[in-house]
Amino acid sequence: MENYNRPREACGVFGVYGVDEELASTITYFGLFALQHRGQESAGIVVNTNGKLHGHTGMGLAGEVFTPEILRNLKGNSAIGHVRYSTTGSSNAKNAQPILVDYARGQLAIGHNGNLVNARALRDELEASGSIFQTTTDSETIIHLLARPCYGDFSDVLTKTLRRLRGAFSLTMLTPDSMIGARDPQGFRPLAIGKLGDGYVLASETCAFDLVGAEFIREVEPGEIVIINEKGINSHFFRKDRKKALCIFEYIYFSRPDSIFDGKTCHVVRRELGRQLAKEHPVDADIVIAVPDSGNSATLGFSQESGIPFEFGFIRNHYVGRTFISPTQVERDMKVKVKLNVLPDVVRDKRVVIVDDSIIRGTTTLSRIVELKKAGAKEVHVRISCPPTKCPCFYGVDFPTSERLIAANHSVEEITAFLDADSLGYLSMNGMLKACGGKDFCMACYDGNYPVPFEEQVVKNALE
Ligand code: SF4
Repeated sequence: MENYNRPREACGVFGVYGVDEELASTITYFGLFALQHRGQESAGIVVNTNGKLHGHTGMGLAGEVFTPEILRNLKGNSAIGHVRYSTTGSSNAKNAQPILVDYARGQLAIGHNGNLVNARALRDELEASGSIFQTTTDSETIIHLLARPCYGDFSDVLTKTLRRLRGAFSLTMLTPDSMIGARDPQGFRPLAIGKLGDGYVLASETCAFDLVGAEFIREVEPGEIVIINEKGINSHFFRKDRKKALCIFEYIYFSRPDSIFDGKTCHVVRRELGRQLAKEHPVDADIVIAVPDSGNSATLGFSQESGIPFEFGFIRNHYVGRTFISPTQVERDMKVKVKLNVLPDVVRDKRVVIVDDSIIRGTTTLSRIVELKKAGAKEVHVRISCPPTKCPCFYGVDFPTSERLIAANHSVEEITAFLDADSLGYLSMNGMLKACGGKDFCMACYDGNYPVPFEEQVVKNALE
């Protein structure tokens, strides 16, 4: 229960249907590898073996959770998988996904990416009528709603259930005869369909298709349910009031650079963000360096536009998880220190531009500037490839509460002074939109315009 006081996971989902008996779990395992950046705390796979669903979940990276022997015991021709990130309280094995249940209609497994903003109200209602929850995840709320007595086939029940949900959900589900994908009416979180031989795959990001050799077909549309079974693909929309609001942060930071949304590769978008940034905040400097790896593409764009040479000022230790998606501040601080090492020969006596994709609390950026100056950098100019992050996210990315977002409470001048930077420039909203090439985005963490209203409790929790 205490976990409802915190924002929750940003996850990755994967599914495969209709492949060779031996292969579904292995394909899913590799799919999870490709999506590992979306969640590093737990991983799970549920497989369909001759109409019987069973699975394995555990804490850790996909490569740690699944041994060759475990995968050998997960034989089947369809499977779904999940990688999960959470905040401290809910980082436990019980909350690992996919969730697998036996209920009146049979078996069902579900993997969820996103946060519901009416989960508390739904849970209260369900508990009042006798439901007993095993986990603290939003996803279990969806299972309980699906399990309620209701007329119609599974597709009708699912349609009615999804109509009751508010907020962000990209779902993969597995039943004894079908694999199902569904996306909320705003399409906050991505979900795509691919073809693999005679079978189909679903994945949060298209980079997972590349790894398993699948061919991208299309994205699951906001508000769409896709049911894949021996009859092929059957699709319908569960809500009429659909209005696309893809999380713009998927382009800026969260997704892998080789993933494609709306026909645009994240790397190309990020490079354009860097170009816009150089136009808006020019600076006299000797070199421009990236915060690897997520800042690489924007830094390249900044260098190309400004003519300032791109250099490697930091070397990244690849055996440390992403700083942003670790559950506690203590862990985050330690990871920052072991993650990046400065190259003094590159930055010494230089006027350095450092390009990054966000400043959240400010402490990480500060420690990088301290390291650069210790290594002899003459000046450090910070350029951020998005606008100031001012508001918390309630839709599945773990931005902290407003109090811990430095830009929520401080001006650019104050942040510059805090960072001891020689200058600081954020990309404008217009520059960001121009680079991302559209307008159908959620940008609430920059402008406070939340596409889906949420319960007061959600805000209260975020402010605590
Ligand atoms: S609030 Fe920000 S991080 Fe959250 S969905 Fe919207 S754009 Fe993405």
